Amino acid sequence: MSVKLPIYLDNNATTRTDPRVVEAMLPYFSEVYGNAASRSHSFGWAAEEAIDIAREQLAKVIGADPKEIIFTSGATESNNLAIKGVAEMYAEKGDHIITVVTEHKAVLDTCKHLEKDGKSVTYLGVGADGLIDLDELKAAITDKTILVSVMAANNEIGVIQPLKEIGAICREKGVLFHTDAVQAYGKVPLDVNDLHIDLLSFTAHKIYGPKGIGALYVRRRNPRVKLTAQIDGGGHERGFRSGTLNVPGIVGFGKAAELLMEEMESEITRLTALRDRMAQTIMDACDSCYINGHATQRLPGNLNISFEFVEGESLLMGLKDVALSSGSACTSASLEPSYVLKAMGLGDELAHSSLRFGFGRFTTEEEVDWVARKVISEVSRLREMSPLWELHLEGVDLSTVKWNAH
Ligand SMILES: *Cc1c(COP(=O)(O)O)cnc(C)c1O
Repeated sequence: MSVKLPIYLDNNATTRTDPRVVEAMLPYFSEVYGNAASRSHSFGWAAEEAIDIAREQLAKVIGADPKEIIFTSGATESNNLAIKGVAEMYAEKGDHIITVVTEHKAVLDTCKHLEKDGKSVTYLGVGADGLIDLDELKAAITDKTILVSVMAANNEIGVIQPLKEIGAICREKGVLFHTDAVQAYGKVPLDVNDLHIDLLSFTAHKIYGPKGIGALYVRRRNPRVKLTAQIDGGGHERGFRSGTLNVPGIVGFGKAAELLMEEMESEITRLTALRDRMAQTIMDACDSCYINGHATQRLPGNLNISFEFVEGESLLMGLKDVALSSGSACTSASLEPSYVLKAMGLGDELAHSSLRFGFGRFTTEEEVDWVARKVISEVSRLREMSPLWELHLEGVDLSTVKWNAH
């Protein structure tokens, strides 16, 4: 069977909006177009009713109450609101925040911003498996700590942090627990009460919904979490986030959540099988390849592999029919090796020569097989041209070679 090119395997970056989601959204552009905040007429009521349904659909996925869902423009804003909102609201209680070096930039840059404002931030490291050390977390908490922000699942390597243990530690110490759950929401079971999560960020475009709409779960009971609003205006969303609600986006977000709930169990099985098939095929055929991140505590739809003796950019070029991400992050001037892979102890070379495969709802077995074959042939083609690979085959230990300066 032939596959249609290009193949999309970058589902950790964004997902295709499910046609069922688009269909659910369409009436909310030019038929039901009221402002959900208009309380005096039926146009507004119809919009509000649609929002209420979406809030319920979204809350259900994480065992929350619909009233605890605050709409935002996406998870970047949710992370900003959660972290800055807590830092400002609880300033009298303390000024210390704990997070992790492998967080998304939306968390890290927010924390850096707060450091400039005089707050103090502890950045926990991770082990070679990408997971934090719980004893290190415990030791980092002081009587000035107001918030722990640890992501649920990592967007590059897919590892799932020990949320239940982190939640229990935070609860015991009386510290709020925020998690960036963008990659985990609806992909693996998550319950905010079971895990003692107080704030949780998520976004529609990573769950087959539209871009530009996200949400923040804010716990209302035991404890009731307060936040300082970051956007002031008409006092929408219980005063946490002003601005006219994006009704079509929210309807699509809700529909996307409903579909996730219906399909979560079967998708976990299907995506795990696809991921393992890809991993097995590649690892069986290629020497000197390494899977990054914890072997079992991970998302079904993510696989990250480093290919030694291969130049990452050349590999991506050879795979231009496949949408993938590499272990290099494009900054303005240069290609920086992934800070997530480096935090796990990978050297620059190995970090650069890594590929992230993100499988999703629309990924097929034929596509996985096509990509696996292509990766294997490209890796061997590039290695044939590599003098380092030749030395390696001759048994030279490259770490002992003294290179001439140039
Ligand atoms: C994509 C992503 C974000 C950013 O979400 P947006 O809705 O695009 O702002 C934040 N955190 C993680 C882990 C992500 O994967």
